[in-house]
Amino acid sequence: MNVLVINCGSSSVKYSLFRMTDSEAGEEVASGIVERIGEAESRIRHEAPGEETSRPVEAPDHRSALALVVEHLTTGSHAVLSGLDDIDAVGHRVVHGGERFTESVRIDEKVIEAVEACVPLAPLHNPPNLVGIRAAMELMPRVPHVAVFDTAFHQTLGPHAFLYAIPYRLYEEHGIRRYGFHGTSHRYVTLAAAEMLGRPVDEVNLITCHLGNGCSVTAVRAGRSADTSMGLTPLEGLVMGTRSGDLDPAVVFHLARTLGMGVDEIDALLNRESGLLGVSGVSNDMREVVAASTQGDRRAELAIDIFCRRLRKYIGAYTAVPGRVDALVFTGGIGENSALVRERTCRGLEALGYALDTSSNASDARGPRDLATAESEKRILVIPTDEEAMIARDTARIAAGR
Ligand code: ADP
Repeated sequence: MNVLVINCGSSSVKYSLFRMTDSEAGEEVASGIVERIGEAESRIRHEAPGEETSRPVEAPDHRSALALVVEHLTTGSHAVLSGLDDIDAVGHRVVHGGERFTESVRIDEKVIEAVEACVPLAPLHNPPNLVGIRAAMELMPRVPHVAVFDTAFHQTLGPHAFLYAIPYRLYEEHGIRRYGFHGTSHRYVTLAAAEMLGRPVDEVNLITCHLGNGCSVTAVRAGRSADTSMGLTPLEGLVMGTRSGDLDPAVVFHLARTLGMGVDEIDALLNRESGLLGVSGVSNDMREVVAASTQGDRRAELAIDIFCRRLRKYIGAYTAVPGRVDALVFTGGIGENSALVRERTCRGLEALGYALDTSSNASDARGPRDLATAESEKRILVIPTDEEAMIARDTARIAAGR
């Protein structure tokens, strides 16, 4: 079965083509991105075995962008499909599924309406996701389309974990609560961690740290999300590339009253000008912040310290959530690649049973690995995430009626 995985942003379409095997694992055979859709200089970057191209294209809208994707998959000497009919199912990444979606679903008009109803909760993300769904359904009307939600994995949080201590009617009337994000990644590494630990997934308790441009940490009890650091929006929780994460909400009132800032300005400040970028003044990219700190840049050093300390605090707090924790899991670009961040984060966590083997941590090894010392009470795992593979697996399962 060939599954096309699509992730539509406001001006881009990311895609991967998976050839699914009976074991459900699947193999990615091509991937790429159409960028600057609707602008003068749209471009497609496409990767397939023996081919790596980047060329200007005409993509006035998402539909034409998807047609270009299909063209790149089906034509030329490196085609991986013989035609559009070779695509058996399409998986769509959808950011917000609200309380309605607790798992991935086959898309029909009712599902589209429900995703539309979640637009107020994710005004920047759900509309382009919907545009992508409609365009792909028009282009490929005969195959099953499946929606996989970033929020779904966290729908197992209890009210004590998802409610904010504000008037209850705001939850009842306006859906203001913690939803959590990065669910597809937290779920992927949870399944992989259970496999590494040799235990059924419903018997593992974990703390999973997704550290990419956006960062979130999840407490997993019996294979299900029990608490997570992102909230109503992805702004809450850890320090991120450009997001502040947790702060006293009164900072917002103070900025408005004392500096006369407007809501949109504060929104931009906290979402796009804060985090690693805001503190270091160097970059939102951890590699550049680390490089600057190595050159003696004091604020870059401070940004890394704040980042790791916030994460350590969450790990400490979340260790108390499931009762017993089997493993701490690092994933995402930073979690998978930064020995420095893992080392600083774990420093001081020994008393809680997390003992990092500093030489395994510093090695250049790739792939899933255990970095805890032999004596460590809890395991410390690095598991490269693969959200697209998770979406492909769900899509293949649902398309096959399982
Ligand atoms: P996204 O959330 O956009 O998928 P990624 O998961 O690719 O992002 O993570 C991007 C982050 O990972 C960036 O901050 C980048 O600097 C960081 N990163 C990637 N490789 C390394 C590395 N070797 N050392 C430190 N940080 C890294």
